[in-house]
Amino acid sequence: MTTNKRTLLRAGLTATAALAAKATGLAAAARAGEAPSIAGDAVTAAAEDFGHLIHRKPQAVLRPASAADIAELMRWAESRGLKVAARGQGHSVFGRAMAEGGVVLDMTAMCTIHDVQPDRISVDAGATWSAVLDATLPHGLTPPVLTNYLELSVGGTLAVGGIGPTTFRHGMQTDNVLALDVVTGDGRHLTCSPSSNPDLFDAIRAGLGQCGIITRATLRLVRAPERVRRFNLFYADLRSLTADQRTVLTDGRFDQLQGAILPDGAGAWRYQLEGAVQYDGQAAPDDDAVLAGLSDQRSAAVISDLTYIEDLSAFARLESLLRSNGQWFHPHPWLLTFLRGSNAEQLAGDILAELNNSDVGPFGRITYYPMTTKALCTPLVRMPDESIAFPFNLIRIPASKDAAKAEHMVISNRALYERLRDAGGVLYPVSAFPMSQNDWKDHFGPRWSLLHDAKQRYDPLATLTPGYTMF
Ligand SMILES: Cc1cc2nc3c(=O)[nH]c(=O)nc-3n(C[C@H](O)[C@H](O)[C@H](O)COP(=O)(O)OP(=O)(O)OC[C@H]3O[C@@H](n4cnc5c(N)ncnc54)[C@H](O)[C@@H]3O)c2cc1C
Repeated sequence: MTTNKRTLLRAGLTATAALAAKATGLAAAARAGEAPSIAGDAVTAAAEDFGHLIHRKPQAVLRPASAADIAELMRWAESRGLKVAARGQGHSVFGRAMAEGGVVLDMTAMCTIHDVQPDRISVDAGATWSAVLDATLPHGLTPPVLTNYLELSVGGTLAVGGIGPTTFRHGMQTDNVLALDVVTGDGRHLTCSPSSNPDLFDAIRAGLGQCGIITRATLRLVRAPERVRRFNLFYADLRSLTADQRTVLTDGRFDQLQGAILPDGAGAWRYQLEGAVQYDGQAAPDDDAVLAGLSDQRSAAVISDLTYIEDLSAFARLESLLRSNGQWFHPHPWLLTFLRGSNAEQLAGDILAELNNSDVGPFGRITYYPMTTKALCTPLVRMPDESIAFPFNLIRIPASKDAAKAEHMVISNRALYERLRDAGGVLYPVSAFPMSQNDWKDHFGPRWSLLHDAKQRYDPLATLTPGYTMF
């Protein structure tokens, strides 16, 4: 290994040859002009994501070790008109972390957990939520909102929102951030919070990576429950599911609330309410009391008693299954939206009547449950203009790799999006179909000027995050 290559590797940097030498300026290698070896596999990986629908090859992939690395790269890329995108865990489904012909910043090396205090934790943005939990749980602490899947990066979910089973009570993950360190599109390293650079703080949270790259986040912590009693309840139809979901949302009997419409494998659907009560010590909640007044098919109910971390790991078990049957690697043309509470049941029912089990796949689902919108305060998280909204997500996990079928689903997503939008629904911007700048203007509505103005201030040459085709 050459000295220069060693220096680059010490800097935590992986890059294609010529660009590495020019782009980083970090290492003696760049000045000496001696190129490191080409990391072609990293470039290939950065041209893919979990969606397997879009393929855009960057010119280089850099793996920064610090905010200073990123700032230097941003200034260099901006001066050359190159596009840059951060990549956390690459679980986008439509190329949103890609930069064709530009530079992808692989954030995985920036994963240090800095400091756990009784009410907060400071972490580098490339850390996964599972790593955050590994650090907080020994202190009996947890972030108030966690995504169902924990192997997403902190930066990746804060760029979109971050919804989970406790969102109806605590908002999105972006509502539970105390401060962020950011490198802006023009290469400035800034700290932002509600009291320091608040315009940047508001533009970064759920800002789809348009104004800056999050390098470090200070996250709110609360006491973690010891145990979770989970109630998966089944219903004969959408109407009875919705009625009980509304009841339990209003009376607050559950600490976690979600729900889904599941393919039954025989062409019909199963209607599921997923509630959970968190508790400490030995005194498990009384099941009859928890379920009082609900109209589910009681003999079908599945009640489990789990440790907090066992409960949070449910998605990891599905991931193992999908990896082993290959479906983790299939195209994933997901559509994620929020419906208005006032017409959710009608719209969901109409759409359901047009879908087949194969439209989501045997292990897919249609997420459907109510949440109150008042807990959500992040300006760029868009919600229907009502006090109750229903996440309505086509989590498509096709049984086959068929690219033509996946493309057909992308086209169908676009048509469904327009239909839902026209009925007052809103996109969760983790979805697989093309969006134009006008679509984004429409999506952000009165908040568009917040994002647009911040873009002019912090990324005036539109260097950052081209995958959304927004600027
Ligand atoms: C299996 C699975 C389960 C999911 N479950 C949930 C869920 O329960 N709740 C939920 O809300 N979402 C969920 N999602 C969606 C997920 O939150 C988003 O796709 C998220 O953006 C992915 O995080 P990532 O680390 O993989 O980001 P990437 O896909 O790598 O990046 C996503 C976007 O964020 C930008 N970005 C990444 N890092 C940074 C950074 N440090 N600073 C600024 N911008 C950055 C990227 O450029 C890109 O535009 C799920 C996705 C999958 C595939």
